[in-house]
Amino acid sequence: MFQHQTIHGEKLNAPLGKIVCVGRNYAEHAKELGNEVPKSPLLFIKPATAAVQLEKPFSIPSDMGSVHHEVEIALLISKTASSINEEDAWDYVSHVGVALDLTLREVQDKLKAKGQPWEMAKAFDGACPLSSWVPVSEIRDQKSIQIRLERNSEMKQDGYSDQMITSIPKLISYVSQFFTLQAGDVILTGTPAGVGPLNSGDVLKATLDARYEFSSKVL
Ligand code: ZN
Repeated sequence: MFQHQTIHGEKLNAPLGKIVCVGRNYAEHAKELGNEVPKSPLLFIKPATAAVQLEKPFSIPSDMGSVHHEVEIALLISKTASSINEEDAWDYVSHVGVALDLTLREVQDKLKAKGQPWEMAKAFDGACPLSSWVPVSEIRDQKSIQIRLERNSEMKQDGYSDQMITSIPKLISYVSQFFTLQAGDVILTGTPAGVGPLNSGDVLKATLDARYEFSSKVL
C-alpha cells in the first residue's frame, strides 16, 4: 500500500484512495499529440494500486509498447470535498508534489481509435510514481508553480501552472462536482509539452517550484 510522506520525512495518516487526473490541460501538449483542446476538463482516474514512490527506482511494462513520461503537478487532498467552489478550492489541499502519469502510448492510441476508456493505458500497476509532499505553505506562488522533468540530464518538460487551460482551483472545483474527494486522494493537473518514451536505465530528475528536486531511475 502506498504511504504518503512529506519532504521532511513525516508520514501522513490519510490513505491514498484515488488519483483523479485531467487530460490535455496544457495547449502545447494537446497539440504535440494531435489532439483538440477539450471544451471542459477530460477526467480519468488511476486506482491507489497504480502509485509507487517516485524517488525509488521503478519498473515499467516491457512488452506493451512505449511508456511515456508525463510529469505533472500533484495535489494532496486534506479533507472531504464535494461540490466545492473555486474560491475555496485551495483550502482542501495540504501539499503539492510531483507525479509521473505513465502512459502506454500505443495502447492508448488503440483505445482512443476505438472510442474506448483509457484505463488499460493509464491505470496499470506502477502507472503513477508520486513524490514526497511539499506543504502548500512552502510553495512560493500558488498561481505560478513550475514543473520540470529531465531525462538523462536533458530537459524534456518545463511548464508553469499558469499555462493550464483549467486552473488548479477551477479543476479541483470541477472534479468535486463529479467525485467526492477524500483526505489522502490526489489530483494530477495535466502535463506540459515534451512527453516521450522511457527506457530501462533512464535517470530522471523532476523539479517542483524551481527548488524541490526528486531523482529516480527506470529499472
Ligand atoms: Zn497526464
